Amino acid sequence: MNATLETILETSASDCPALSLPDYTPVDELCALQLQRLQAVVERACQHVELFRARMKERGLTPANIHSLADIAKLPFTKKSDLRDTYPFGLFASPMKEIVRLHASSGTTGKPIVVSYTQADLDVWSSVLVRCLSGCGLHRGDIIQVAYGYGLFTGGLGAHYGAEALGATVVPASGGHADRQIMLMRDFGVTAMCCTPTYFLHLIDRAAELGVDLKQLPLRAGVFGAEPWTDSMRAHIEKMSGIEAFDIYGLSEIIGPGVGCECRYHQGLHIFEDHFYPEIIDAETGEPLPDGREGELVLTTLSKQAMPMIRYRTRDITTILTGRCRCGRTLRRIARIGRRSDDMLIIRGVNVFPSQVESALLQIEGTLPHYQIVLTRSSGLDQMEVQVEVTPQMFNDKIGAMQELHEKLQCALDRVLGIRVRVALVEAYSIERSEGKAKRVIDRRRS
Ligand SMILES: [Zn+2]
Repeated sequence: MNATLETILETSASDCPALSLPDYTPVDELCALQLQRLQAVVERACQHVELFRARMKERGLTPANIHSLADIAKLPFTKKSDLRDTYPFGLFASPMKEIVRLHASSGTTGKPIVVSYTQADLDVWSSVLVRCLSGCGLHRGDIIQVAYGYGLFTGGLGAHYGAEALGATVVPASGGHADRQIMLMRDFGVTAMCCTPTYFLHLIDRAAELGVDLKQLPLRAGVFGAEPWTDSMRAHIEKMSGIEAFDIYGLSEIIGPGVGCECRYHQGLHIFEDHFYPEIIDAETGEPLPDGREGELVLTTLSKQAMPMIRYRTRDITTILTGRCRCGRTLRRIARIGRRSDDMLIIRGVNVFPSQVESALLQIEGTLPHYQIVLTRSSGLDQMEVQVEVTPQMFNDKIGAMQELHEKLQCALDRVLGIRVRVALVEAYSIERSEGKAKRVIDRRRS
């Protein structure tokens, strides 16, 4: 059977908004639409955003210089620091009377960044979420529990309006209160969860303690995002809960969750290219790289009114995958984002990413996917300790078994990281649980 047809037939046509979605637009039509929208958004930013206008002028560029999609490479980048420097409203391209929503993200340092939406922007946001959720096999009749935080963070309200627009029943649980989350999942017959993957891990553990077997519930899908996670983590989640776990990608600067999402083939995340134009660049030189090469993801909003982002440097490291997905969508895909250039730790001159630690430890029986990296400095030398929780059975077992596990982990980490790190096995639940994004790294090198 034709893959597109197969996907569509997975849900009954009347319940499946995918039929009328632009995910299957022929590539030439998609490119023509992208160019038209790119020209319009550059024009809009030049007219209304002082910083962008000044940078265009410096380069001797006007919107008329954009003749093809490849011309995007001439345009200046936008960085996160630009949002901070123009705090709060300096990058807005619409007057406040047209802006109907503000969101903000709490930066780890200093001022938050603020993002804005017109009603048309919110409609686009909901429409891409509908495409995400329907790509995950969800539709009218599903009961979707949103356990991302509601508020200034884009996760909660983004997923909420998307799930409503899909026609599903939304349970706006927001973050936290694990026992109540589990009660709602069970009593309401929730079929899908939207939250961070680490929070869902926490719910898996807590459900087991409460004697609730997630595999016996109607729950069948999880749409997890807002932090990098690995395929090993997916395998663990699916095994422990019996659900199908999907990776969703997004960032507030671009729109929030819904920039891209996996389909049921789980071969990378489709980017909703009619609204978000992806490029991969060499993070050092800024030069564009061809599809298939790994580098930093750069995104341009093609239809955003209130706050157009031109060539926004996401700091996320990925690859645009070549070849067509078996689902038949014409949208290009990015590989799952396992790391961000911001996450990179430099330990004794070697680059280390928390996701490398995660993938190494999840392959070893007896460990739990809860870990923390503690960095210290002694005699001028960086030391990295990986604290890993082990299952209660293992912890109570004979010392010999713990030693064996310790050696296995040490070998696996040495091999993956290429440097010697300390491994500490700790009791289950001794690492603090997160209600949102996990805190993987404790850096004590300066204190
Ligand atoms: Zn696909």
